[in-house]
Amino acid sequence: MAKIKMTTPIVEMDGDEMTRILWKMIKEHLLEPFIELNTEYYDLGLEHRNETDDQVTVDSANATKKYKVAVKCATITPNAARMTEYDLKEMWKSPNGTIRAILDGTVFRAPIVVKGIEPCVKNWKKPITIARHAYGDVYKGSEMKIPGAGKVELVYTAKDGRETRELVHEFDGAGIVQGMHNVSQSIESFARSCFNYALDIKQDLWFATKDTISKKYDHTFKDIFQDIFDAEYREKFDKAGITYFYTLIDDAVARVMKSEGGYIWACKNYDGDVMSDMVSSAFGSLAMMTSVLVSPDGYYEYEAAHGTVQRHYYKHLEGEETSTNSVATIFAWTGALKKRGELDGNQELMDFADRLEKATLDTIEGGKMTKDLALITTIENPTVLNSEDFIKAIAERL
Ligand code: NAP
Ligand code: MG
Repeated sequence: MAKIKMTTPIVEMDGDEMTRILWKMIKEHLLEPFIELNTEYYDLGLEHRNETDDQVTVDSANATKKYKVAVKCATITPNAARMTEYDLKEMWKSPNGTIRAILDGTVFRAPIVVKGIEPCVKNWKKPITIARHAYGDVYKGSEMKIPGAGKVELVYTAKDGRETRELVHEFDGAGIVQGMHNVSQSIESFARSCFNYALDIKQDLWFATKDTISKKYDHTFKDIFQDIFDAEYREKFDKAGITYFYTLIDDAVARVMKSEGGYIWACKNYDGDVMSDMVSSAFGSLAMMTSVLVSPDGYYEYEAAHGTVQRHYYKHLEGEETSTNSVATIFAWTGALKKRGELDGNQELMDFADRLEKATLDTIEGGKMTKDLALITTIENPTVLNSEDFIKAIAERL
């Protein structure tokens, strides 16, 4: 069989620990036998980040601007323990944070739905994709403990020195206060990322805030989404047969629980943080979750939603067998290959990505899976495979 050719490279960002081991196996068994894999390789493993003073992370993000599509392996975000473990020069920042700061955009997370791993919410038939705004609000807030009686005000000082004040509260006694902000540009790019992604995967977009209570703050989110939708997206949505739907956050939560899924739910930063954990655990497992960063300029970076699975890696280093789930990492690759195929008009590559996804899901539905899934599946007597044998079982089906 002739291998599928790729005209433009994908940016390949290698990573750490157990996911780095899976990465190599996926390439060896599932990709390289079928594709003349064309990637520009960046080693984001912690050792190499340390050697290059983290320049490699910046370079990989800039390469993503050039080629538009990247696939990323999970990476260690250093903490104090990693400083000694890897003898680091500095406590390097989270690579995801660095890449996000360069590319801007929104992270979309969706469960990988497979028969045998049933959502706790019994009417959820299709995935629910959470789009989380990744800037501002309480994550960039400033707070004060108020020791006793006194007045708290918001003060805006314009460039010309003029002040605008707004009373927060006249305190009679002790209390607390919090100030938070967002910037219009970030909300606009969040909106555009969501509209573009909805068009991309042809699903309805829901957005919800508490605009009835927060008449300026949340209402601005609502207004920016609506203005951009009316000016730039309404016609495109009509053509694609999808809708944009705004409602109050409490109404959205109630509707989500009663829905059958199959839409994108755009969330402000805090709502996205909380709701994505609820939705992902209700769907089954973090190892069955795709994650893609979509920039407003049309750059795409695909990854798994989970980390480097450190505990399994240490077992692996001791020569013990592991049963680590590679599905999310496989789907990071298929997402990137499909997007590459779409941008290059390479139908063969897109078809291959679909077949690899199908082979992966069929393997699980056929009763062969890793231990994490075997523990929660409704399939009787599943065969538990180790990390490599699971990938080989997929290769066999493929
Ligand atoms: P983790 O990699 O998400 O794993 C936590 C636990 O979840 C594992 O010990 C395992 O449970 C289970 N798990 C996660 N993924 C699995 C998979 N694919 N197959 C089977 N089980 C899976 O988190 P961590 O081990 O606490 O973090 C390790 C490193 O990941 C940290 O240094 C952190 O900085 C980094 N991280 C990176 C990213 C990223 O690059 N996107 C995201 C999050 C964390 P059992 O042990 O019970 O089997
Ligand atoms: Mg969270």
